[in-house]
Amino acid sequence: MSNLSLWEQESFYSTQDIIIIGGGFMGLWTALNLKIKNSSLHITILEKNVTPLGASTRNAGFSCFGSPTEIINDIETMGLEETLEIVRMRFNGLERIKSHFSPSQINLDNCGGYELINKDYKYFDQLDEKIEWLNKHLKNITEKENTFVRRDDAIAEKGLMGFDAMIENTLESGLHSGKLVSALIQKVQAFGVTILNGIEVSSWVRSLDGMHVYTKQQIRFTANQLMLCTNAFGNEIAPQLNITPARGQVIVTSEIPGLKLSGTFHFDEGFYYWRNLDGRILIGGARNADFEGERTTNVSGSELIKNKLIDFLKKHFDSTYEYTIENHWSGIMGFTENKKPLLTQLDDNVYAVLACNGMGVALTPIMGEKAADMLLLYF
Ligand SMILES: Cc1cc2nc3c(=O)[nH]c(=O)nc-3n(C[C@H](O)[C@H](O)[C@H](O)COP(=O)(O)OP(=O)(O)OC[C@H]3O[C@@H](n4cnc5c(N)ncnc54)[C@H](O)[C@@H]3O)c2cc1C
Repeated sequence: MSNLSLWEQESFYSTQDIIIIGGGFMGLWTALNLKIKNSSLHITILEKNVTPLGASTRNAGFSCFGSPTEIINDIETMGLEETLEIVRMRFNGLERIKSHFSPSQINLDNCGGYELINKDYKYFDQLDEKIEWLNKHLKNITEKENTFVRRDDAIAEKGLMGFDAMIENTLESGLHSGKLVSALIQKVQAFGVTILNGIEVSSWVRSLDGMHVYTKQQIRFTANQLMLCTNAFGNEIAPQLNITPARGQVIVTSEIPGLKLSGTFHFDEGFYYWRNLDGRILIGGARNADFEGERTTNVSGSELIKNKLIDFLKKHFDSTYEYTIENHWSGIMGFTENKKPLLTQLDDNVYAVLACNGMGVALTPIMGEKAADMLLLYF
């Protein structure tokens, strides 16, 4: 064996039915859905990092299906039917997570979600009518008469200030996304899916015995079908995907004695978000302060955004809180131009499913199922 070239090592790795490239939420849910529908499939996930390191282990853990101003904005850009379809997928995706994992496995906290709004919001004067209109359309999805309820009275009791209105959605939760990734990994492995970490795919070529997948580690794999779940990094191996990377940054404070915050919180069409994380404030966003600079796959983060988040803390949180900033990280989201998640065929037997446009916790279980159904047409 020592005389074999590295490329010849592939002959010891059997041809797979399906190779999934990328081991974040999307790759894992796709694999799980495939195995649930056809347990005899041979599936391998190739993940370039030691653990998935795009967005799935770096997000804020909001189990949300859209805040009112975000949904209104989506309706204006995508239209009512398309937006409601995506909201329905998100809502069903959250139910799917709960059907697979117990709350304690993923630290699911049914804390409720809130959106804060200020008078400069373009529809502030019509807020009640807008909420009523949204509730009418969401009733078919959430089976709740009033998904969104005005709760301006509770702003101060949450320890917040400098906002004019607050809308509550009791169906929203928070979860531990690292624990969700771990639970998914254990589940797909129990189904017999192989996950190979530290393997970065660089290209693929069709050949008589299937698709040959070439990797930076000089190991070649063969599969009947390929599914790219590479999200923001998709352009690197398939430029035609035209995914826009968007860095998201998060800071976490030290523990704050007497922190009144409970719930998950959104502001400014989702550009700011925060929650109570074990007695600390986790706050993220502010990407709209530097769209150009944040259009990157570089995970180093930036002082500009970090300082915006710190300023936001000072302006909007109880001024008696004492804290330091203990943690700061970033992850990379993938966006499409029309804000719709993408499931597409790139070539014969090569597909891609990606770009949850910043709300992948809820969307990946359902997009992963759609991707599985597409692959299963072959078998
Ligand atoms: C800071 C931040 C906060 C967020 N907060 C929330 C939130 O609260 N709620 C919510 O719903 N969503 C949130 N999101 C979005 C959510 O995390 C993503 O939509 C979701 O994780 C996308 O999953 P994915 O599997 O498609 O992508 P990723 O998790 O990025 O997975 C893609 C994987 O592909 C691998 N890969 C890439 N190229 C290759 C290659 N050539 N070969 C092998 N492997 C490769 C990468 O290493 C990566 O692990 C947030 C995102 C960020 C960045």
